Amino acid sequence: MLKSIKATAAGLVLVAVSALAACQSEPVSTTAPAAAPTAQVAAYVCPMNCEGSASNKPGKCPVCGMDLEPNPAAGKPAAPATDSL
Ligand SMILES: [Zn+2]
Repeated sequence: MLKSIKATAAGLVLVAVSALAACQSEPVSTTAPAAAPTAQVAAYVCPMNCEGSASNKPGKCPVCGMDLEPNPAAGKPAAPATDSL
């Protein structure tokens, strides 16, 4: 009786270990791309929201030539403002 239970337990452990190994051997597939330009928030952006205009320092938009403006989303805290109440 005990021996069969132990054998069953050992078999379950083997199955679990093999399943873990199978999971680890699988290639990591993440939905998020490695380099997402929209993931990072630039400090300065073009007021026209031109592509590639985001910059971490003030300057001119390389697309339309307008002066970059401070990105309001850059220094915004994670929590929403609650001082409206
Ligand atoms: Zn622009």
